[in-house]
Amino acid sequence: MTASSLQDTLRTLPQVEELLQTECLAQLEAVLPRAVVVEAARAAISDARNRIFDGGNASPKDEIALSAASIALQTAKPSLRRVINAAGVVIHTNLGRSVLPHSAVKAVEDVAHGYSTLEYDTQSMARGSRHAHCEQLLRLITGAEAALAVNNNAAAVLLVLTEFAKGHEAIVSRGELVEIGGSFRIPDIMELSGARMVEVGTTNKTHVSDYANAINQNTGLLLKVHPSNYRMAGFTEAVPLKELRKIADAENRMRSQERETQLNAAGPRGLANGACPDDLLVYEDQGSGALLRLDCFGDYAEPTVGESLRNGCDLISFSGDKLLGGPQAGIIVGRKDLVERLKANPLARALRLDKMTTAALEETLRLYLDPERAKREVPTIAMLSATPEELEPRAEALAKAILSKTPNGSVNVEIVDEISRAGGGALPMCDIPTRAVRVEFLRGSAQDCERALIQHRKTPIIGRIKKDALLLDVRTLVDDEEIDMIAQALAEYLEGVVR
Ligand SMILES: *Cc1c(COP(=O)(O)O)cnc(C)c1O
Repeated sequence: MTASSLQDTLRTLPQVEELLQTECLAQLEAVLPRAVVVEAARAAISDARNRIFDGGNASPKDEIALSAASIALQTAKPSLRRVINAAGVVIHTNLGRSVLPHSAVKAVEDVAHGYSTLEYDTQSMARGSRHAHCEQLLRLITGAEAALAVNNNAAAVLLVLTEFAKGHEAIVSRGELVEIGGSFRIPDIMELSGARMVEVGTTNKTHVSDYANAINQNTGLLLKVHPSNYRMAGFTEAVPLKELRKIADAENRMRSQERETQLNAAGPRGLANGACPDDLLVYEDQGSGALLRLDCFGDYAEPTVGESLRNGCDLISFSGDKLLGGPQAGIIVGRKDLVERLKANPLARALRLDKMTTAALEETLRLYLDPERAKREVPTIAMLSATPEELEPRAEALAKAILSKTPNGSVNVEIVDEISRAGGGALPMCDIPTRAVRVEFLRGSAQDCERALIQHRKTPIIGRIKKDALLLDVRTLVDDEEIDMIAQALAEYLEGVVR
């Protein structure tokens, strides 16, 4: 195309105002905010212009208007919205991790709808603490002296390291220097906190003596990190918490002796010079934060928070939305004097929970006061512990709904044995047997259908593709309504396929 004919073609593009007057966009302006439609018209004209620069033809005005309408409708859709998880990954980080218990959702609605006692104590009729709502429950459930909840576990780790290891050394095993999904890396958080990371041991083996030899007067804490989504097998060795406790106790006895006998003079190790004034602490980043030991996982069960405390941790932190099954939060439990120091750190103010999360966390924790109730009413726990036999009726209902709604002869449907996953870095080695609905497409294709279910639905449906079939794991469905929604979506996809 010559320069002048390119100019001529570009001149055929409609102006924004002109496009807005097409019937299609005028109608849209009646239901959508004008700003959204105007922006979409600009974007559609710009797309058309780019096509001309790429050597294409000028699109007719009506076509540009249609594409503007589709952009506007897309913009008007909420970006964060519900999806149906039929992938069978219970704590799916991309899909929002844990589904909240009903009572927690109700509590969120209550405090969001009206004012609340967030920082008001009705007994004293004076200012209260937002930390009070969950602390007592966490103490009861874990047996800890004190507790604090912040924005997420990454924030909890940062807070603990900043308060107790900034300007000091923190010892961690090379076998535990892990990266957890979403770019959480222990060395990065360490650096951010101002702690000096001292690595000990090797990737596969770390011994008690590795820790003991690395300790000096400036060591602030021994950090143990749950390896989450990563497991080593074979010739491996890690030092159990009980052993770390013994090492720390021995060091602390020495420190207190030195403090007593040589208050100001330099001791045998020169303790008076830039020494760590505190006790050497044992801190575990426990990650998934199991409050209950679930029998269904057998040997794979993660240690509970209570067990880690009894094994000698001074502090433990974990997520609120992994195995606990509550909202996004980072929970720290442990010694009262230490938790009080964390509460007073300015970072705790920056990382604090809002009222909606606090409400959801409080109500989720309340369910754990009765473990049997927690197993029934915390969706994450109920989903993880459902057996294939318990899931069978739901799989049958889904298969039946799909067969009855979809056109005759368009799909083959069967119920198959499959594997669900805990996700969220929890129980990585644990295959959870499940029952899934396998849909084979005699019309269209599984890949095509998957795209339609995700891209074109108001409520996207996430399944899995396996050998050209669509697998729908019923473990992670939250109610029976989702069964009908899936069947309806499949029916609409198949009706739209031109044979
Ligand atoms: C998940 C996890 C984190 C990060 O927790 P968030 O709540 O996602 O911030 C940190 N450490 C471990 C061991 C984890 O498993």
